[in-house]
Amino acid sequence: MDRQRVVWLVNQWFEQNRRDLPWRRSTPWGVMVSEFMLQQTPVARVLGPWQEWMERWPTPDDLAAEEPGAAVAAWGRLGYPRRAQRLHRAAVAIAQEHQGQVPTTLEELRALPGVGQYTAAAILSFAHGGRAVVLDTNIRRLLARVEGGQQFPSASPTVAEWREAEAWLPEDEATAALWAASSMELGALVCTARSPRCEDCPVSELCAWRAAGYPAHEGPPRKPQAWHGTDRQCRGVILDLVRHSPDGVPVELALEAWTDRSQAERCLSGLLDDELVRRDAGLLRL
Ligand code: SF4
Repeated sequence: MDRQRVVWLVNQWFEQNRRDLPWRRSTPWGVMVSEFMLQQTPVARVLGPWQEWMERWPTPDDLAAEEPGAAVAAWGRLGYPRRAQRLHRAAVAIAQEHQGQVPTTLEELRALPGVGQYTAAAILSFAHGGRAVVLDTNIRRLLARVEGGQQFPSASPTVAEWREAEAWLPEDEATAALWAASSMELGALVCTARSPRCEDCPVSELCAWRAAGYPAHEGPPRKPQAWHGTDRQCRGVILDLVRHSPDGVPVELALEAWTDRSQAERCLSGLLDDELVRRDAGLLRL
């Protein structure tokens, strides 16, 4: 596989086809906020909340000066609200330990609350133009197809896959940062999970999966994540109720918002343990 050629072609394609996403024209903090929001939420649903967030808290210091509850309330319907708490904690750490500036090394980024390997690499690459292995689902799928000749990668990255991704990384920082963004964009827009548009793909001539005649996925079946009736949905319902009730919600009313009483009790207790909701004289508040 001529990796350098693939990188060059994908980077060229990106220059012409990149989406004009607002965080791509933003500050390192704007990139960091977008990475937290995009962790489990698609781009289209992140655009509005990201704009509002950046208008309200344009710097880490602005967010750090607020109570965590304000961050959870502003998180709105993005889902997985623990991310809002972690982002708030990260803002406090940046304000206190980094003079309000988003750190510029992987090590310092990894030490921030809520920042794992992927998010640290993404911030380093997208915000600071650094060289790091960014391995999200879009990039993993693209590499599995182009080089591995497989429809999908394994359920989670293996050590061997990390090494492979490292081998793809161009030496030069700027090209490596461009490759991280361009390969992710190609995976998101062209080499999609269900219906790849190979006729529009800049590396179709080099793609091993295409050359092999698109063999079907052989691993365990890929299950879409269930949502209806889950604890996650139940927690979302209760949290939404509290979020929209500035005067507080009686505990009993919150439990009645969900049909399965024992599930509602379990989920409410989880929200209290996670400090996403607090109990104050029989009322639930953020
Ligand atoms: S040729 Fe098709 S399957 Fe291969 S990388 Fe391009 S879009 Fe994906």
